[in-house]
Formats: sequence, structure tokens, C-alpha cells
Amino acid sequence: MSPRQDLLTAFDDLLAPERFKDYGPNGLQVEGRDTVRKIVSGVTASRALIEAAAARGADAIFVHHGLFWRGQDGRVTGWMKQRLALLLAHDINLFAYHLPLDAHPELGNNAQLGRQLGLLADGRFGEQDLGFIGARADGDAFADSDALAAHVRAALGRSVTCVAGATGPLRRIAWCTGGAQSYFEAAIAAGAQAFLTGEISEPQAHYARECGVTFLACGHHATERYGAPAVAAHVAAALGLEHEFIDVDNPA
Ligand SMILES: [Zn+2]
Repeated sequence: MSPRQDLLTAFDDLLAPERFKDYGPNGLQVEGRDTVRKIVSGVTASRALIEAAAARGADAIFVHHGLFWRGQDGRVTGWMKQRLALLLAHDINLFAYHLPLDAHPELGNNAQLGRQLGLLADGRFGEQDLGFIGARADGDAFADSDALAAHVRAALGRSVTCVAGATGPLRRIAWCTGGAQSYFEAAIAAGAQAFLTGEISEPQAHYARECGVTFLACGHHATERYGAPAVAAHVAAALGLEHEFIDVDNPA
């Protein structure tokens, strides 16, 4: 049994949220019971995740996407009321770490996505150094953009949108999980031959063709599934707590 404050300190020490300019509060977003025995991790503090965590007797939930974001109007109505009511009724603590979870060099979303894809980063790029750039861990190149897209499709178990800008073998691969399509130009400037992220917007298809750099949209949720369980499992093991990851599917 670990008091809530020990858990918060462990997450903060690992993820160093004070180093980031973020879109919402990192750390304890909703206070629950003081003692914690079981943590459930997930990508988003959705109603489905909170219900599943409550059903499994969780004392704390650890997510990438919490409840509070800049630009919300702050009213506790509709879906927000439902999610908060569930958390409070079950006295469950909600911990959320956004950019600090993307960035952690071994356990974060980008590092863990790299592992899933067999990529090893040797550099960082983009705003707040969130983008990762590197090459295949086995030293090989992808034969072409189609080969890279097929590899990602198989590794993530979902379709990907590929705009093949580059021709020939691809060695320098950049990636940034989630909705990081705006990092594409920084990835190009960093020397990437291909850039992977979760989502695509209209301009990136043109940049890919005009700059000769391949762009892959691999799913916001699918690319951000790996950091939260890695961090929560690490902290749970250090504090002697139970941990379970619950994946609530999301086609986005
Ligand atoms: Zn995200």
C-alpha cells in the first residue's frame, strides 16, 4: 500500500513535468483515496476506462490524456460530469502526464513506439525536443515507402495512411506520437527521409510530395498506447503495487 503522495512523487521524479510547457496540468488531476494498492493505466481518461478501472478495484488511474485542457470552458456538465462523478464515487485518483510522457527517453510514448517498430533514436528535433529521429535497430534500411508502411501496419495491427514522398531506400526515420503532424517540417529539416505520427492534416500530403519525404499517419491512439503502461508498470514495481493496462480501442 502506497500513499497517494509517494505515487505522485515517483511519477514526478521520473517524468519531470516542470521541464515542459503543456496544454493542461500534469500530475494528480483528481484526488481519490490516500492509499493505493492497484494502478490501472490507459491512454485516455474516458468514461469506458474509468468504468473498467472501477470494476477491477483500481485505486489510481494513470493516463496520457487527462480531463483538463487549455481552452475548455470549465463547466462540469455532460461527459465531464459523468467522468468526474465516476472517479469521485469510487474514490479513484487520476494521474495524467501529457508531454512529459511523450518525451521520457526510455519509457515514454516515443521511446516505446520506437521499440515496437524496431527503431533506435540517435537524436531529437522539434518543439521542446519531443520528436525522435534515428534508424532501424538492425542497421538495415527499408526498401522503400511501401515497405516501411507494411512494417508499421504489421507492428501496430492497423491500417496506416502513407504519402510516399521519398524514393528509394529509407534509412533516416523520424517519429513523434499522437497529433504531431505539425512536426513534419522540423523532421524534414532534421534530415528525415520518412516521418511517422498519429494523424495527418491537409498540408502534410503536399509537403511530402514537394520535399521528397514520406509521411505516415499511423493512428493517434495506436501510436500512444505504449508509454502509459511502461511508466505505470515501472513505478508500480518500484513501489510494490499492482498494475494493469486497459486498452480502450479508438479508431482515431
Ligand atoms: Zn495524444
